Amino acid sequence: MCGIAGVFKLENAESLVQQILFAIQHRGQESCGLAVRARDGAVHSHRGMGLVKNVLSPELLAQFQGDTAIGHVRYPTAGSSNLLNTQPHAIDLAEGPHIAICSNGDIINYGEIRARLEKEHGFTFKSDNDAELIGRLIAFYHVIHKEPVEEAIFKTQHELKGAFSSLLMYRDKLYAFRDPHGLRPFVMGHVDYQGGAQIPSQGTVFSSESCGFGIVGAQMLREVEPGEIIKLEPGAPIETVRRGEKERRHCVFELIYFSRPDSLCFGELVYDVRNKIGAALASRDHDLPLGDDLVVIPVPDSSNFVAHGYARARNLPYEMGLLRNHYVGRTFIQPSQKKRDEGVKQKFNPLPAYFPGKRVVLVDDSIVRGTSLRKIVRMLKTSGAKEVHVRIGSPPVIGPCYYGIDTPTEEELVANRMSVPDIAEFLSADSLRYLDIGDFSSILKFPETFCYACFNKDYIYPPQDFGHKLNVPDTQRC
Ligand code: SF4
Repeated sequence: MCGIAGVFKLENAESLVQQILFAIQHRGQESCGLAVRARDGAVHSHRGMGLVKNVLSPELLAQFQGDTAIGHVRYPTAGSSNLLNTQPHAIDLAEGPHIAICSNGDIINYGEIRARLEKEHGFTFKSDNDAELIGRLIAFYHVIHKEPVEEAIFKTQHELKGAFSSLLMYRDKLYAFRDPHGLRPFVMGHVDYQGGAQIPSQGTVFSSESCGFGIVGAQMLREVEPGEIIKLEPGAPIETVRRGEKERRHCVFELIYFSRPDSLCFGELVYDVRNKIGAALASRDHDLPLGDDLVVIPVPDSSNFVAHGYARARNLPYEMGLLRNHYVGRTFIQPSQKKRDEGVKQKFNPLPAYFPGKRVVLVDDSIVRGTSLRKIVRMLKTSGAKEVHVRIGSPPVIGPCYYGIDTPTEEELVANRMSVPDIAEFLSADSLRYLDIGDFSSILKFPETFCYACFNKDYIYPPQDFGHKLNVPDTQRC
């Protein structure tokens, strides 16, 4: 998971991109960067390790002024803290012109395409990053095969296997394109669209999530559709091409965990979906007796709305019994168990004198390894909770993700090693219930358009396609 942002033909595009990136910082905290086209046509880029507010400071932005810009926040993964792999990539080809590209996703056939470009066509790569591969493949079709850029993007789009929501700056144009399955979210907005069939290119903005638009005064227009190529050119309306759309497979985990609750994602209001997940969990929980001592507590923040939906459905008190330190990042993506354990202690603290005598419904969005949740359950019991009943807003995670989410290997996923009662015992929980996978059909508007592979291993690409991917370092991820 990463986040991307783009702005076309607006004053101080670099600041607007910085603000969108700030709004989608939850999608990646390892590093960030931007590329700006200055008024003289030159493309400048800056990338650094760390948060948007530190790397893309006002002092730095003052040196990078322009009217078109793209930017990226990167998701931290083990062994990937490497400046070369940060985005956007500026590709200054000996064979042709300068382009800048950023992307969110994961390319399954990365190794195969890179080997071909290197061995057969003499390309040199500066990083191990998917976005550079996408940029060089487009350059290959455009510069060597003399295809128009739109055709080069189309060929690239259909040669790549995997997830990619991408922005490409080329001369005075900006292109937005997405993989044909639409795995990762990608939305388009406008700062002054007044209606009408033709939308002017000038003033168009892009973001991984719609929560990035309010901060720059943009209204959401729509999603960049799966398989679509959008072309923005100065003085022209938005042009769009869509050919060869494939079966939609939106990542359902975006709705469960990754996206911000105030985003509109895949046609769904994220907070609404999470509320409904909570209600679905509650509807199966009649064997847990009500009582004055029963309270519902989320593991903040991604479970807040699920817990709220559960509490409302059963008419129970909803309490923020666990306080979260917002200066600690997402713990499950920390590279070692020791770091994850330290992260849980730094991140969560129970309300003092609140838990004695209480039965707690503790709601979390998912269980990956189970080790963080075990620490939280123990924390509540040590604080005096009489019982802790764990409710999970997703089905058991049994398969790793190969499309841009850094979930662990199958062996590390606790639901692969243990039955539900055994996981409850491992957590020291008095009971444990997951969301039933079938409940998605009553929660989502178009449940058949989603990927559920981490719950049912029904991957878009057959497992043999992942062979080389499993043997490469995480540095190839977005
Ligand atoms: S495997 Fe899971 S995390 Fe990955 S895209 Fe599919 S639903 Fe999302």
